[in-house]
Amino acid sequence: MYLISNREMLLAAQREGYAVPAFNIHNLETVQVVAETAAMMNSPVILAGTPGTFSYAGTDYLISICQEAARQYRVPLALHLDHHEDLTDIESKVRAGIRSVMIDASHFPLAENITKVQAAVRLCHAFDASVEAELGRLGGQEDDLMVEEGDSFFTDPVVAKHFVEFTRIDSLAVAIGSAHGLYKGEPKLDFCRLGQIRQQVDIPLVLHGASGIPESMIRHAIELGICKVNVATELKIAFAGAVKDYFNAHPDAEDPRKYIVPGKRAMQKVVEEKIRICGSAGKL
Ligand SMILES: [Zn+2]
Repeated sequence: MYLISNREMLLAAQREGYAVPAFNIHNLETVQVVAETAAMMNSPVILAGTPGTFSYAGTDYLISICQEAARQYRVPLALHLDHHEDLTDIESKVRAGIRSVMIDASHFPLAENITKVQAAVRLCHAFDASVEAELGRLGGQEDDLMVEEGDSFFTDPVVAKHFVEFTRIDSLAVAIGSAHGLYKGEPKLDFCRLGQIRQQVDIPLVLHGASGIPESMIRHAIELGICKVNVATELKIAFAGAVKDYFNAHPDAEDPRKYIVPGKRAMQKVVEEKIRICGSAGKL
């Protein structure tokens, strides 16, 4: 087993009308939980890491851990570069073995976004790595990436059509009202816009900021063409919450082999739930 691109995974999801969940992982334990649960449920999954995660854990460590997880659990895994911006950085990670890339140039003016994405596509496709790009801008915060609400804007369906044609990307991250981090009020998704984007664009669409969006809305988004659903914040909260509870109950705990275990269990529940909502169980 080896680390694959997410191209075939997402095209299969698009054909059959489900989504592949992408979970943000950070270390050995988070990779173990996602890979083990995916194997148990026979679900394709994507393991995503932001630039901050790769700096924290080390690219080669993460690649080795994910390769070993793919081998042990006999699941094809896509280790994915989430919100990467720097082409030199992307190139070094693709050369190291990663085959699934998001280039996020959504904060640049359209022409510059297109140029940067085109360069990433040229590079990544030479390695048979898949490329996701974002058009429009999500609000909220993910790691070092912080977008004020006033700076966020939605994806224009007609521009999306040209963006996909010009760049030849494999999947498109859309801004339709979801946001990174936690929602202050009830999240609102612009389903009408999503439907219009689907009419203009025939490649798999990606929903970022899915933590905290109700199941019925995620399912409706999948019906309208979302093929990849990103989950980060909900995993962190479940993990940290369970570890905090453990320390509250066992203030003298010092053995990571004990206090990390409830965190892993709590994360596993979230992973199971998201695989169920995405409809990806049994699709391996
Ligand atoms: Zn994101």
